[in-house]
Amino acid sequence: RLLLMTVLDQHRESTKGIAITVQDITREAELNEAKSQFISNVSHELRTPLFNIKSFIETLHEYGDDLSESERLEFLETANRETDRLTRLVNDVLDLSRLESCKRYNFEAVDVSATVEQTLRSNQLNAKDKGIELCQELEPHLPPILGNYDLLLQVFANLVGNALKFTQSGGRVVIRASLLPLSSPVDPGRLRIEIADTGIGIDPEDQEAIFDRFFRVENRVHTLEGTGLGLSIVRNIMEKHHSQVHLVSEVSVGTTFWFDLPVFRETATPLEPLIPEV
Ligand code: ADP
Repeated sequence: RLLLMTVLDQHRESTKGIAITVQDITREAELNEAKSQFISNVSHELRTPLFNIKSFIETLHEYGDDLSESERLEFLETANRETDRLTRLVNDVLDLSRLESCKRYNFEAVDVSATVEQTLRSNQLNAKDKGIELCQELEPHLPPILGNYDLLLQVFANLVGNALKFTQSGGRVVIRASLLPLSSPVDPGRLRIEIADTGIGIDPEDQEAIFDRFFRVENRVHTLEGTGLGLSIVRNIMEKHHSQVHLVSEVSVGTTFWFDLPVFRETATPLEPLIPEV
């Protein structure tokens, strides 16, 4: 968008010069493009399980009498799994769109050990079923951090969920938290949080793309379980905390996702209010 303004000399009423304002509309166009791409991807992703569910139900309805009891059961189980997948997709899309609508979140003192405890409680059964050891290694007496409890719980849930998904039986998933050394006398301090697994690892050439919406590394491990949105949600929540999520990974050895969060101080200036995107 180009705006031309003729600047008049107040006294002589003659043209003194021209002021030019250039507003970049590329970003706006890019955002619109990203939104349409997202809607098209969502529609595609939703259509697949819906199509499968409908096909299985139709087959059962029309040819149910010709099928054996075990075949009927298998059809029903598959339709049920596809319904679960559809539910996960809808939930993840809703979470992401809620995050992107940029409503203001409360940032308060969050006890990391309580968040980790809660995460372990919700995932322990799943870990046990898969034969994976799930544990925590937290430095004692950690101070609270400045953040949003519900959003951070979601980050832990997504990262630990992935770690369990991509680790074989006999493996280990550990949540670590430690206080980083102060970088200066005015540094309020930061906590480093790590979620490490001994799983299948991620190829260096995929490590950037895994944060893209709907990206999933081509492998046969639990492909049905994933939506490809979990890490986009994690990245978005970290941005809301003015932080970033990083990873180190080696194929067949394991992956560690890590991020830093500021220590909560009574006098600390709260995180800036979030300005909705246009
Ligand atoms: P998904 O729902 O598929 O897990 P995510 O956005 O959470 O979606 O992750 C994207 C992809 O990144 C996954 O499908 C998987 O290929 C890869 N990935 C994520 N976490 C791990 C991990 N801990 N170990 C190996 N691969 C992972």
